[in-house]
Amino acid sequence: MRANTWAGRNKVEVRDVPDPTILSGRDAIVRITSTAICGSDLHLVDGYVPTMQDGDILGHEFMGEVVEVGSAVAPERLRVGDRVVVPFPIACGACAACAAELYSCCENSNPNAGIAEKMYGHPVAGIFGYSHLTGGFAGGQAQYARVPFADVGPLKIESGLSDEQVLFLSDILPTGYMGAEMCDIRSSDVVAVWGAGPVGQLAMDSARALGAAKVIGIDKEPYRLRMAEEAGHTVVNFDETDVRSELLELTGGRGPDKCIDAVGLEATHGSAHIGAYDRVKQAVRSETERPHALRQAIMSCRSGGIVSVIGVYGGLLDKFPAGAWMNRSLTLRTGQCHVQRYMKPLLQRIERGEIDPTRIITHTLPLEQAAHGFDIFKNKQDDCEKVILKP
Ligand code: NAD
Ligand code: ZN
Ligand code: ZN
Repeated sequence: MRANTWAGRNKVEVRDVPDPTILSGRDAIVRITSTAICGSDLHLVDGYVPTMQDGDILGHEFMGEVVEVGSAVAPERLRVGDRVVVPFPIACGACAACAAELYSCCENSNPNAGIAEKMYGHPVAGIFGYSHLTGGFAGGQAQYARVPFADVGPLKIESGLSDEQVLFLSDILPTGYMGAEMCDIRSSDVVAVWGAGPVGQLAMDSARALGAAKVIGIDKEPYRLRMAEEAGHTVVNFDETDVRSELLELTGGRGPDKCIDAVGLEATHGSAHIGAYDRVKQAVRSETERPHALRQAIMSCRSGGIVSVIGVYGGLLDKFPAGAWMNRSLTLRTGQCHVQRYMKPLLQRIERGEIDPTRIITHTLPLEQAAHGFDIFKNKQDDCEKVILKP
């Protein structure tokens, strides 16, 4: 089959690779009809994650048709011909983490849990197409994928919704929603969202759906800010104004009640880094050159407020403002999304027309043009917001 692979730093390549096969009774093979490029994929191509290997198949946002199921998957749960969206964290459904619905912390799905444990203190779940730190699973930017624990993760789509309407249930809609949900939103709340990328846009929509009085999106790309504005959100351009002052201005001097970081590691802006890696250090610029989203969120947030972090961080973070966090009674919440927890309720919100994730799709390309897709998404060319690839 054809698959988009990691070919070194800043290089992806569609290559011929072997078709996946069933390896366990709980596996399924999915023929992929739509797959997307995510901001998290950029951390891999930027070289921020040291456990990538040449030829690793990328992609953790995908959906398609089940073409084979393992012997241990009950037919009531999944059968050949089912149309499914696959959540990006691989989860066993039975461990203590899964029982607590902390699917991205599953204790059984990552064969390289030891590496993760060294880095994070405890294991984390396997993730499709997301380096050997999260299990080295082949990703979904391909014609087919093997889906482990297929009796737990995949969501069947039985209505006539299009791929475009449901694909983002695999990651960025639940992620944006979890970012807003972690804010415990009340109807008087002003919620500020750093990052108007795909995740930030869906966090903004989710904050509104959860009842926020006002949602403010922060970015520097005019077309991304325009997209947020067209969806009804207030916007702030961090290249043109001092964000904290502007936020205080918009909130009677107190700051937003809730702040969401939907930026995380950002290579082109060098706003954060995994401390140990020299090549990453090169990308880090001084604070005066570029505001750091998480620091800014903490410093801007109203006393007693919540800072919700859905942007991905990998290692150590310099100059974390622990003093502001502690002395102003802030709550910090974060996590890789526990996607399985949100898929069904969010599918219902899509069906009821409460959230329309299709508004962020700007490009649909054949899988063969994956490299071009990565290029325009990473470099913010051609007003690119979200790329869908069709294998
Ligand atoms: P993206 O790279 O398209 O968007 C990031 C946006 O942040 C860009 O538009 C950029 O201009 C903006 N930005 C950079 N520095 C900023 C600053 N200082 N202030 C405000 N905005 C700034 O990526 P995306 O697909 O939207 O993903 C965003 C983040 O969410 C990434 O870190 C990604 O890894 C993460 N993510 C997390 C999860 C999860 O489970 N928690 C899931 C998916 C993605
Ligand atoms: Zn993603
Ligand atoms: Zn588990």
